Amino acid sequence: MSVTLHHMDATTDRVTGRDPSRSLGEKCAVFGVYAPGLEAARLVHTGLWTLQHRGQESTGISVSDGVSILTHKGQGLVAHVYDEATLRPLVGHVAIGHNRYSTSRGGDGLSHAQPVTNGAQRLALAHNGNLPSTARLSQALSDAGVDISGANDSELMYAALDRAMALGASVEDAVRDCFPLFTGAFSLALLTPNALVALRDVRGIRPLALGRVGNGYVVSSESCAIDAIGGTFLRDVRPGEMVVMDESGLRSIQIAPGRERLDIFEFVYFARPDSILLGRRVNEVRRQFGALLAREHPVQADVVIPVPDSGIPAAIGYAGEIGIPFDFGLLKNRYIHRTFIRPAQSLRESGVQMKLNPIAEVIRGRRIAVVDDSVVRGTTSRQIVKMLRGAGASEVHYLVSSPPVMFPDVYGIDLPNSADLVAARMSVEQIRESIGADSISYLSYDGMIAATGLPAHDFTTSCFSGVYPISPVDGTVVDEVRETVPAQLR
Ligand code: AMP
Repeated sequence: MSVTLHHMDATTDRVTGRDPSRSLGEKCAVFGVYAPGLEAARLVHTGLWTLQHRGQESTGISVSDGVSILTHKGQGLVAHVYDEATLRPLVGHVAIGHNRYSTSRGGDGLSHAQPVTNGAQRLALAHNGNLPSTARLSQALSDAGVDISGANDSELMYAALDRAMALGASVEDAVRDCFPLFTGAFSLALLTPNALVALRDVRGIRPLALGRVGNGYVVSSESCAIDAIGGTFLRDVRPGEMVVMDESGLRSIQIAPGRERLDIFEFVYFARPDSILLGRRVNEVRRQFGALLAREHPVQADVVIPVPDSGIPAAIGYAGEIGIPFDFGLLKNRYIHRTFIRPAQSLRESGVQMKLNPIAEVIRGRRIAVVDDSVVRGTTSRQIVKMLRGAGASEVHYLVSSPPVMFPDVYGIDLPNSADLVAARMSVEQIRESIGADSISYLSYDGMIAATGLPAHDFTTSCFSGVYPISPVDGTVVDEVRETVPAQLR
C-alpha cells in the first residue's frame, strides 16, 4: 500500500495533525569525529562551518575526553557562536556537532539547540530529519513515567535512548531497543564518553556520509565537510544501519532492513554542489537538471543567468546544452541568511532585494533566460522578474530546474504548508502571470529523475509527487511505494 496525498487535500493539518502555523522543518547538519590523538571538537567546528548552509539558527558541539561530556551551544552562525575561549575547553578525541535551521515558530532558538544532552554524562545526540509522528515514542516514554513535556522529536529520541542506558544498556543495545519507536526521518550522530555512533532511518531520507580522518572516523551530513577537515570520504551510512566507532575500530550493525529513498530535494537545493550523494556529485546532477530542462524547454534568449548560488550549476548546464552564453546577471550578497523563513511576507520581499542586485550591462535590452533551482512560495521569482525588467530586460523567461513543489514536506525540509506553496494553488500559466514573466518552464518529474542517473525508487520525491515512503500521519514505513506520479507532473 502506498500513501499518497492528492493535490486537493494536501493541507499540513491533514498530513500531520499539527498546527499549520508551526514549522515542520529541521533542515539541519550533523557532524561527528572519533579520532584518537586529534582534537575532535576543532575538527567538528570546521565541519559545522562547512555545513552552515544546512542551518543557521543555532549550533552546538559536545566533546568527550573518554570520561565526561562537555557541550557548548549558542544561537546564530558558527562564526559567531565559537571563539578561542569557547573552543579551548572542548578537549577530547570524540565529538559531535549540530547546526539547526528552524524551530517551531514562537519557541526561542536556544532552548531546542542541539546536541541534546542532560547532566548524566551518558549521551549527547544530534539529529537531522523529522519524525512526522511521535505517538509511539511519546506513549512508551509516558508509560515508563518519563516527563516529556515540551520535548520535540529529537529530545524524545534522546529521552528514550538515555533512559535505556540509565537502566544499564550499552548504547548499541539502547539503539536496538528504541529504533522501532523512531517513526520518521532521522540521521543521527550520538556521542557517549567513549564512542561515536551514527544511525540512519530505514529509508535513508536525510543523508549521512562516513569517512576516515587520521586514525579514526568522521560522519557528516554531507561529504564536503569530510573534505574540509582533510578526511577521506568512504561511503554513505546505509538506511537502517548503525555504525559504532570506538577503541575497537568501526562496527557496522544493520538494525533493520533498509531501502534507499534519499530525499531528492537534497540534489535540487539543500546539498552543496561539491558533496557526493548516492555516489553522484551534486554539481553534476544539477548541471544535468539544467541540460534536460534545455531539451524540454528551449527558449529564445540572448543570455542565460543563474539565480545565485543554488541556480548556478543548472544554469551552466542549460546554457551549455542550448548554446546560449552564460553570464552572471544577478549579484548575491553572501552575508544575508534566512530570507526564506522570515515570518512576514513583506520582510521576505525586502530580504530578496537586499540579497540580489542586477548587473545592468548584462541585462539591458536583452532577452533573459533566468535559471532557478526551485519555486516554493513564488516570492523570489516575482522579485527577480521585477528586478530584471527594472534593469531593462526585453524579455524574462523563468526556468526552474525542478518540478512544481506541490506538497508539504514532513521529513525535515523547511517548506511551507500547501496553502503557501504557489504550485499547490495555481496552474503553471497562473504562476507565470503572477510572477510577471514572459514564460515559466519547469523541469519534468521524469527529467529530474533521469538527470540523477538513478532509478526513481532510490528517492523520496514527496514534495513534488505527494508520495510519502514513511506515512506522514503515523510514521509507519510504507513497504511498496507507488512509482507513478500525478499526470500533471509529466
Ligand atoms: P520562494 O521565494 O518561496 O519561491 O523560494 C524559492 C527560493 O528559495 C529558491 O530560489 C530556492 O533556492 C530557495 N529554497 C527552496 N527551498 C528552500 C528551503 N527549504 N529553505 C530555504 N530556501 C529554499
